[in-house]
Amino acid sequence: MIMSDKSFLDGHTHLQMDEFSENRKHMIESLRKENVRVICNVGYDYDSSKAIMELKFPDDFEVYAFAGIHPHYAGKCKTDELDKITELLKSGGYNGIGEIGIDRYWYKKEENISIQKELFISQLKIAEKLKIPAMLHIRDAYDEALEILKDFSLVNVEFHSFTGEKRHLEEIYRRGYYFGINGVITFKNSSLKEILETEYIDKMIIETDAPYLTPVPFRGKRNRSEYVVYVYKFISDYFNIEMDELKEVVYNNFLRFINNNNG
Ligand SMILES: [Zn+2]
Repeated sequence: MIMSDKSFLDGHTHLQMDEFSENRKHMIESLRKENVRVICNVGYDYDSSKAIMELKFPDDFEVYAFAGIHPHYAGKCKTDELDKITELLKSGGYNGIGEIGIDRYWYKKEENISIQKELFISQLKIAEKLKIPAMLHIRDAYDEALEILKDFSLVNVEFHSFTGEKRHLEEIYRRGYYFGINGVITFKNSSLKEILETEYIDKMIIETDAPYLTPVPFRGKRNRSEYVVYVYKFISDYFNIEMDELKEVVYNNFLRFINNNNG
């Protein structure tokens, strides 16, 4: 059982991406060296979701997988892509659907947003039907995402890479959802520090979103899952929480998010 030796968890990463394909053996070694051995790989379309199952991890790693269609792919996904995702989710290797959502930061056209919303709703329906957790990617669309979620009985919902306002975090917490914190909190200009209070800690999952959102002091470089340690350090210092306690709380939050059946 990994929890007893207090591994770090990366609750949202994309190690199946080509960015990490050059030397997977080395990648495993550096993850092990930093004691980052609980990993959740997340898909963003059918191919990337399927590719997760081709990754090989040694026995001292605990790995999780999500399959889903990211809002960035909403406009380009094929007509049978959702059916194929559903098949993957039924195959037994995956822990939930994700990442799914609405992104108004990169997409401004209402035309695209309505495709995103339709796809988001379809995937929430799949989560409800299969009673599986849903991992969300929401940018500049927290109010509408929270509104959409009112039509669902889902509880195992995580807002990965949370970047909303305080009232959104309060609402997420009130409804029993989870939220993900990554390298963004280490950025000087991030307002996340002011709104993230210790009372929310039992719903917080720590992640990298590698290869994106690299934490300080590596900002500007490609992100790696082992850099999750810097996010943990930041939070541990900022909230004055012992590192071992933080690891345990975050790991248990993640297990609760993964294990309760939605519906
Ligand atoms: Zn991601």
